[in-house]
Amino acid sequence: MPRGIIPRQPARTGRQDKLRTAPASVKPVPKQTKVGNVRPGSRAKTSVSKSAKPLKSVKGYTPTAPERVTEILKRLNDLYPDVTCALTHASAWELLVATILSAQSTDVNVNRVTPELFRKYPTVQDFAALTPQQLEPDIRSTGFFRNKSKSVVGAAKKIVADFDGQVPDDIDKLLTLPGVARKTANVVLGTWFKKAEGVVVDTHVQRISRRLELTTQNDPPKIEQDLMKIIPRERWILFSHQVIWHGRRLCFARKPKCVDCALENLCHAGDKTWSTVDMHRNAK
Ligand code: SF4
Repeated sequence: MPRGIIPRQPARTGRQDKLRTAPASVKPVPKQTKVGNVRPGSRAKTSVSKSAKPLKSVKGYTPTAPERVTEILKRLNDLYPDVTCALTHASAWELLVATILSAQSTDVNVNRVTPELFRKYPTVQDFAALTPQQLEPDIRSTGFFRNKSKSVVGAAKKIVADFDGQVPDDIDKLLTLPGVARKTANVVLGTWFKKAEGVVVDTHVQRISRRLELTTQNDPPKIEQDLMKIIPRERWILFSHQVIWHGRRLCFARKPKCVDCALENLCHAGDKTWSTVDMHRNAK
């Protein structure tokens, strides 16, 4: 280099960050809207383009178009090919109990409690012989333990009385059990019985489906209906598991790790922390 010429230094303002691109593994999608890079760590709220419009008015863009949904499913498959339910269980009954206990708790927390619980009460009949008050100390650490005790003991009593001690593999029958709504029923049917009767909509599926604009609903049963319309039935079970894993690994409720996300250039979520595509204010 000739004397007196100083090599160019990175700008102190960090403006060179504009050169950042999506992860190499992610194929760019055809440019459909203005590109608006947002630096990692910046607050998403302030990063949303003023021109961002509600879903319906984004011209030429249909978030639930089959090609887009197919691409999302493909990338989820690449990211999480073999995932399943993270709740430890050895029978339909154990999975049912673990799923009831997982409400407002984490799978890790539930998995800490259930091994000892099932050692102490090995069968559904053992649970049916308890009062809710007797069960409370064993599940206290999962939170909401009074309601959960009532649900678990109530479900055990009904299974023993009405279903010959066997967890039914029928959604209508499952929904008659205390403490069992569609989410729990779908977990048991999909994971244990391998029956796709619906899509599990937990907090991760709810959040990520909205971010990916697969639904505009807030209510889990309505989200489930939307997802069932656009996702092929043979993918219902795996889709839920994959999205739940994605929510745990990257797409956190607060500060999702968009810079590391293979879905990034398909995602227009209004609360992204980094983006190569336009962000849609309502998509969150
Ligand atoms: S880009 Fe961000 S908000 Fe969108 S799915 Fe990925 S982690 Fe979630």
